[in-house]
Amino acid sequence: MHNPDFTLSAGPTFASARTLAALGSPIMYHYDPAFLATFHRLEGKVKQILRTNGDVILMQGEAVLGLEAAARSLARPGMGVLNLVSGVFGKGMGYWLRSTGANVHEIEVAYNDAVDPGVVAGYLDTHSEIELVAVVHCETPSGTLNDVARIGPIAREHGCLTLVDCVASVGGTPFEADAWHLDVCVLGPQKCLAGPAGMSLVSVSERAWAAIDDNPQAPRSSYLSMLDYREQWLRCGKFPFTPSVSDVFGVEAACDQLLEEGLDASIKRHEQAARVCRTGVVAMGLQLWTCREEIASPTVTAIALPAGLTDVEVRTHARERYGVMLSGSQGAGDLIRIGHMGPSTRSLYPIVGLLAVGRTCADLGVPVQIGAGIEAAMDALASNQPVAT
Ligand SMILES: *Cc1c(COP(=O)(O)O)cnc(C)c1O
Repeated sequence: MHNPDFTLSAGPTFASARTLAALGSPIMYHYDPAFLATFHRLEGKVKQILRTNGDVILMQGEAVLGLEAAARSLARPGMGVLNLVSGVFGKGMGYWLRSTGANVHEIEVAYNDAVDPGVVAGYLDTHSEIELVAVVHCETPSGTLNDVARIGPIAREHGCLTLVDCVASVGGTPFEADAWHLDVCVLGPQKCLAGPAGMSLVSVSERAWAAIDDNPQAPRSSYLSMLDYREQWLRCGKFPFTPSVSDVFGVEAACDQLLEEGLDASIKRHEQAARVCRTGVVAMGLQLWTCREEIASPTVTAIALPAGLTDVEVRTHARERYGVMLSGSQGAGDLIRIGHMGPSTRSLYPIVGLLAVGRTCADLGVPVQIGAGIEAAMDALASNQPVAT
């Protein structure tokens, strides 16, 4: 099968020529001074992107590695943990947390909704045994955002640590690890940064390190170990194992492009693309999946599937007939997603996504107002303020 003409997925997103060139740089010995300098520089850049002065560890594996490592490092048998579930990734975090023997409480809402920070505060008021709150910022499969800016300070006021899955939000929506009192944050390079998928970029506060130190079950001498990174790399300059040199070069190039553009400009670019996309969806006569537009993530638009269609049918048709790769629901519900994440926020990409979804629905027998949708979306796009390109 030929390659897609347009990748409008919710990650991995398509890397720039500059990132691809960096990925293709000559591979070096990992203790070469030039590589060591690169690795240290990348830590600094990730700190800027996560907005933290705390430690950052660059784990060598897709973001699920960092998430599982963080869950197993922080949670211990009998510990009171509050897991917030508004989608597939929050649900999955609960399985890891429970498998540590922690006493896991959950606040779960429908997957087209977000967790109310007031409910979190109320729960923590009446459950003083909770020591850790886990939350997903952007629940990518359902296209929603949890209000981590409010949940972080609420957790801190109650003396709890936070574990935040910000894999798919950073770069596309405001995120402040230190200002929001977030203890462990896990970012993936393959979403808004449009880098390779092979690393977990993890911030760790002093408070989190203290809790991990005290956890006899925290992974040690393990691929999942955060402590190995601190003890061997941060303290002694020895890698726990060989990092993928190419991924490090690729992720650094992706970070450079984000920092050169500026985080604020990147966030604005995502917000504007989201507005264009959602304006078009509604004007076409399709329905947004999220129950309220305020909780919709600027990085991806989830569209409720018209009755009678499945996400597999829609995605297959859009890909085969029009060369456009969309994202499915990953089990979040009856929805299809247009990613406007990283490079697909630019230019006419959101319009291409709308055309692919609209015309696919029409081809499959569902009446949609494609012309009206595109017209409204183009009006929204034309009224956008220019952002750095
Ligand atoms: C992409 C993503 C991850 C990484 O998980 P994969 O299933 O391996 O892509 C984790 N959390 C969130 C919220 C994500 O969007």
